[in-house]
Amino acid sequence: MSFSVVGSIAERIAQIRETLPDSVRLIAVTKQVPVEAMRAAYAAGIRDFGESRIQEAETKQAQLQDLPDVVWHMIGHLQANKAQKALQLFRWIHSVDDLKLAQRLDRLAATSIQKPNVCLQVKILPDPNKHGWTVSELWKDLPDLNNCNHLNICGLMTIPPVGLEPTELLKVFQETQNLAIKVQTHPELKLPIQELSMGMSNDYSIAIAAGSTMIRLGRILFGDRPT
Ligand SMILES: *Cc1c(COP(=O)(O)O)cnc(C)c1O
Repeated sequence: MSFSVVGSIAERIAQIRETLPDSVRLIAVTKQVPVEAMRAAYAAGIRDFGESRIQEAETKQAQLQDLPDVVWHMIGHLQANKAQKALQLFRWIHSVDDLKLAQRLDRLAATSIQKPNVCLQVKILPDPNKHGWTVSELWKDLPDLNNCNHLNICGLMTIPPVGLEPTELLKVFQETQNLAIKVQTHPELKLPIQELSMGMSNDYSIAIAAGSTMIRLGRILFGDRPT
């Protein structure tokens, strides 16, 4: 699906907002989006920006320092050697995708004042192109994740494989929600998994139907990214 944009950024944000339940946080995904467009989104009420590269986020944060109350979300794959930097730049990391990375972040976060908010990235369907835990891998690692006391592990994130039909997408999102409930209520774990980071430009309404609490929208707000 391609997104050629009609109207201003503010108009598109307002239109989408109208359709969202209050419980859903709208994260504007701004990778490859110039800071001028980010300022327009901010003026239209956006306070959550999602970036997928450390370097790009660092540059933009320096340019947008005057915007006081922005919450920055890391949504892309994080290399272990950039974990420290990620903790400095982001309040949320949606893309924690293996135990080693989680444990490294946990060690690094030991001295931070505020615990970083973390989502565990899961793959409900097999997908060689994506990072993240399969469901069985996650269950194996949950006891160790449970010991990462310096992280606020509070959500699951998922990106469905490309090309699924709406009914299949719904199933992926519902299974993510069911997994979150199972983890949250597991008697031997203390992981308050209340956030579901799921839904992008082409599937966010389906994700919301399955209980998404954070949607990550790029192209539908800012238009297609240059390839
Ligand atoms: C790019 C990206 C998005 C936004 O995708 P759009 O199709 O532009 O809405 C959301 N989540 C992640 C992890 C991304 O990398």
